[in-house]
Amino acid sequence: MLSIPEEPDRPAEARIAALRAEADRLESISCTGLTATWCPVHGDCTCPPVFYADDDEPQGRTLNDPLCPLHSTTSSHAEVTSC
Ligand SMILES: [Zn+2]
Ligand SMILES: [Zn+2]
Repeated sequence: MLSIPEEPDRPAEARIAALRAEADRLESISCTGLTATWCPVHGDCTCPPVFYADDDEPQGRTLNDPLCPLHSTTSSHAEVTSC
């Protein structure tokens, strides 16, 4: 009689749960946040930097450049998909 060895430490349910968690994790990192200046899917933000008076360092970006792959109005970056 053939017997399939059990994995007492990792029952099938646990392995499925681990796969689900991994899939969720991969899905959640598909896009960075809306205000991110880089995204693994859409690339680099090209919005112009924002300077405040008396400050040499940019304080961020406008995040609304029409040609930015992340922040243009036609970009699918960080879109919220509602069910
Ligand atoms: Zn941008
Ligand atoms: Zn993105």
